[in-house]
Amino acid sequence: MIVGINCGHTVSGTVGSGAVGFINESDETRNVGYKVMDCLRSKGVTVIDCTDDRSASVSENLKKIVDMANSKPLDLFVSIHFNSGGGKGCEVFTYGGKKLEAAQRICDNMAKLGFVNRGIKDGSNLYVVRKSNAPAMLVEVCFVDTKTDVDLYKKLGVEEIARAICNGIEPQSEGGLTMEQYEELKRMIEKESERIDVLNQEVSKLENPMIYNYIDDNMPSWAREAVQWCVDNGIIKGTGEGLGLDNTKLWTCVTIYRLAKLLTN
Ligand SMILES: [Zn+2]
Repeated sequence: MIVGINCGHTVSGTVGSGAVGFINESDETRNVGYKVMDCLRSKGVTVIDCTDDRSASVSENLKKIVDMANSKPLDLFVSIHFNSGGGKGCEVFTYGGKKLEAAQRICDNMAKLGFVNRGIKDGSNLYVVRKSNAPAMLVEVCFVDTKTDVDLYKKLGVEEIARAICNGIEPQSEGGLTMEQYEELKRMIEKESERIDVLNQEVSKLENPMIYNYIDDNMPSWAREAVQWCVDNGIIKGTGEGLGLDNTKLWTCVTIYRLAKLLTN
């Protein structure tokens, strides 16, 4: 699947850069839009960025956006915007108000996050919807000048909003799993690999037990005297590389030493 994503208007501070309220449309369309692109790519979708940052006029900006969209054989074109004018919630414009499945899913996903569902509306008069060759939609995420919308938007965070839009565009993740199933699977794999790491460490300890070659500070203090005695009495002999004692051998030395003491007393 090839999807064109457009982050709304030009960058903040330029001609026709979009609505400004408690938040700024131009900045937020980019915050959300680029996350939507990442999310889609993670699902194996080919993404064409149809964002134009700078143009001398609104008409130039709109034309550039549509030219980018129409230069590729897109399956879907999505323009991301934020609303203003004091309403509440999310709405999606399509050509003739067509109930595109992806548009419906975006509305549903946004409603699940707590936004008012304003539904799918006729966007035939919108340049990017009208001129795009591919099925097109323009998403108005929420209202930049409505405090409850902005509060909810901020509380949820850009990631969550982007995921709602991304999962609306492409509900399946790579391999035919839903995003939720994919994330659950990822968590399970991470948990299992942690357990495998722990087991590997245990096996490594068994295969490579601690070896004490010298009677020094590395050797546990409870064994030093006994080992020294065993060496002094020729009970154990080291090789050129040291004594080569593991924990069990330390205990054996201690036992012999105690036994010897018992017999000599
Ligand atoms: Zn806009």
